[in-house]
Amino acid sequence: MFAVAIDGPAGAGKSSVAKAAAQELGFVYVDTGAIYRTIALYVLRQGVDPHQASAVEALLPQVQVSLEYTQQGQKMLLNGEDVTALIRTPEVSMATSACSAIPAVRAYLLQLQRDLAAENNVLMDGRDIGTVVLPHAQLKVFLTASPEERARRRVAQLEKAGQQADYASILRDIQQRDYQDSHRETAPLRPAEDAVLLDNSSYTFEESVRRLVALVRERL
Ligand code: C5P
Repeated sequence: MFAVAIDGPAGAGKSSVAKAAAQELGFVYVDTGAIYRTIALYVLRQGVDPHQASAVEALLPQVQVSLEYTQQGQKMLLNGEDVTALIRTPEVSMATSACSAIPAVRAYLLQLQRDLAAENNVLMDGRDIGTVVLPHAQLKVFLTASPEERARRRVAQLEKAGQQADYASILRDIQQRDYQDSHRETAPLRPAEDAVLLDNSSYTFEESVRRLVALVRERL
């Protein structure tokens, strides 16, 4: 199997770039953020504070997270319910950042992610794929862009979807999530030593995909 680990901060375009590259390469695209988001949704639904590590940990035995691959892409199932559309709210994003800092949550999801890479050629995106989940991935990429550029892209995305977008609060959320993700004790966001750094602040989407596909093809 061939594994590509793609890590980087929120909003760098990891998922859309990785999804398009996976399609071109015939690989399975695995969005690990969606897996963490599914856990966070369950925690919120139970009325538990996502910062309360022991309370969150106590819920884990009740959560069954599974993935389904369809024509539309990766679907997330929470105890059998399709929650794909429900895990994208700002509330879930912030809760996910808190839940994913809990070591028991990361340990709980580790095997699920490794199993996916054992069964398929994958392009797996997340925060600690190259450093923890798939340390032997054939290619590791750290995909990033400046916080301001990431906020601008998010505003454009929301406006395109007909939603209101406030640049200042989006930038603040991005900076807060960056800080939380890179300062946590367990699996902090950082490039693996052998990762290729891809800063796509000045690239178009197509350019980012092209460069990622080229990096994979060089190693196939
Ligand atoms: O990638 P996405 O923005 O959907 O991830 C949501 C949150 O999940 C991140 O801010 C991060 O806290 C967490 N996450 C993680 N490890 C991963 C993927 C996501 O900690 N592999």
